[in-house]
Amino acid sequence: MIVCKFGGTSVADAAAIGRVIDIIETKRSQQPVVVVSALGGATNMLLDIANKAASGELLIALQLVEQLRDRHVREAAILLPGSAEADELTADIAATFDDLAHLAEAFKTLGYLTPRSLDAVAAIGELLSSKIVAAAFRQRGYPATFVDARDVMRTNDFFTKAEPDVDGIRQASQERLVPLLQQGRIPVMGGFVGATASRLTTTLGRGGSDYSASLIGAAVDATAIEIWTDVDGMLTADPRVIPAAQLIERISFDEAAELAAFGAKVLHPATIAPAVQRGIPVYVFNSRNPRAKGTMIAFDAPRLPVRAIAGKRATTMVKLRSSRMLLAPGFLRRVFEVFESHRTSVDVVTTSEVSVSVTLDDATNLAAILQDLAAFGDVSVLPRAGLLAIVGAGISDSGHAMAKAVAALGDIPVHMASLSATGINFTLVIDDEHVVPAMQRLHATFFETAV
Ligand code: ADP
Ligand code: ASP
Ligand code: MG
Repeated sequence: MIVCKFGGTSVADAAAIGRVIDIIETKRSQQPVVVVSALGGATNMLLDIANKAASGELLIALQLVEQLRDRHVREAAILLPGSAEADELTADIAATFDDLAHLAEAFKTLGYLTPRSLDAVAAIGELLSSKIVAAAFRQRGYPATFVDARDVMRTNDFFTKAEPDVDGIRQASQERLVPLLQQGRIPVMGGFVGATASRLTTTLGRGGSDYSASLIGAAVDATAIEIWTDVDGMLTADPRVIPAAQLIERISFDEAAELAAFGAKVLHPATIAPAVQRGIPVYVFNSRNPRAKGTMIAFDAPRLPVRAIAGKRATTMVKLRSSRMLLAPGFLRRVFEVFESHRTSVDVVTTSEVSVSVTLDDATNLAAILQDLAAFGDVSVLPRAGLLAIVGAGISDSGHAMAKAVAALGDIPVHMASLSATGINFTLVIDDEHVVPAMQRLHATFFETAV
């Protein structure tokens, strides 16, 4: 069994969905489970509809509902010309968008949104795309079955960032997916979407379809998890920032996890963990270029000082200075409890005798955090910070790579630096506006000049 996940651009329209079917055709003997994202851009639009409605712009919200309805109906009609199933699917799509229009009206009346209502809206994208893709498979003669992700992807009720119930997902997958595979069928389900034990709709957070794929892969003991996207694999940097980025043919789980956590959007940061636990290799392939080699992510890979670089913009750095930190056992624990109590995770940490600096990805609760931290000492904030991650299993084998990295930055000021304990990620905190030029300089140094 394998899991093949297709991202938004890989199912953006009828032509892209046609390519998905061609790819799965070549995988039939491996018993694929197909996991799909929403049609490219649909999730953004759904959330936009909810936000516009709640802020009083109901007319615009309803126009967007119509645009999204038309897009789904149009692509379904191209995929299922004149079939009986087309009518059923079109009616289903229409009913879903009628419901969404009613929800938008309710949001307008309420004037606010809850995380739970946002998830109900965001999930529409994957629920529809998976129905459309399953029907398109059947139209082409393949025995595909739509599986409602909410019947499989059990989660807790942390709406908009729900955490998986791994045992529940395993049990549901064994009950719902494995029998279909054994009957020679192709299960097609949406990524990103889940449900609580009482069947309230949840989502795993933006970009979460990759995570769905690896959770399902672990749950069915897959032999491979394939992430099909719009680039040839994992590259030495984001090709949108560095057009000269090069394909990485093989990378370790640890390196890939660090890159994902520090901004390589090609993989959701949580994707690697379920795969590592069961030792399942993860592949990244291009659905527009299926013959290309792609990237294999596994336990071992050639040990290089620098495998790739990643950058993350719009993070927040918080610095706490306190003389009470000197020789005070438990001080750091109390500081970190502040972040925990505000459900905010910390990315990078450095400490000195009298200060601790951290970066936060999510600054939603910043004001409350700062207020609590003020009890410990002087707090300052760099609101527009950026992260650079220079990742390679051999980065700390000698001092050369780190020295080269710092030299490459030249006059770009560095606010924090940290080498992870595993010694594979050298992270630097700089100003947000320096992230792109810094990545260009680092990439040129490590990958574009002959050594
Ligand atoms: P999907 O919709 O298939 O999930 P995403 O947009 O989430 O696709 O992720 C693919 C994108 O990730 C690429 O188009 C690329 O711009 C970006 N990306 C960032 N860092 C990397 C990297 N190191 N290697 C490859 N792609 C990367
Ligand atoms: N459709 C969701 C998003 O845009 C999940 C995903 O594509 O992975 O965030
Ligand atoms: Mg993605």
